[in-house]
Amino acid sequence: MPIVKKREIEVMAQLSGEELQKYLVRLPAPKEKLDDLFDFLEMTLEEKPCDHTNRFTMQFLMQNGLSFPKVSGWLSQNGGYCDCKIVEEIATEWWKIFDNPESDPQEI
Ligand SMILES: [Zn+2]
Repeated sequence: MPIVKKREIEVMAQLSGEELQKYLVRLPAPKEKLDDLFDFLEMTLEEKPCDHTNRFTMQFLMQNGLSFPKVSGWLSQNGGYCDCKIVEEIATEWWKIFDNPESDPQEI
């Protein structure tokens, strides 16, 4: 097995304060938009199965006027090759960094 470089989202999950800010300014879209994207994907995939493309992501990016190449490039670099992987690999790490206002606290 080759040594896998840590994904940016995993690195971010271990940072805080100024160190985290450095990553935030380099995100491919504003943080609030990415919050909305992950919420949207989680909700959508509860109703519709993933067809292992990133069609829902594409739909969201188009509706929100975001750059598809930039955002999807960043997502796939972080292991999010399709909508369900984006939720599994990225949204779960994302919510470790930022509280999900939609979810109830599970443990203290
Ligand atoms: Zn999938």
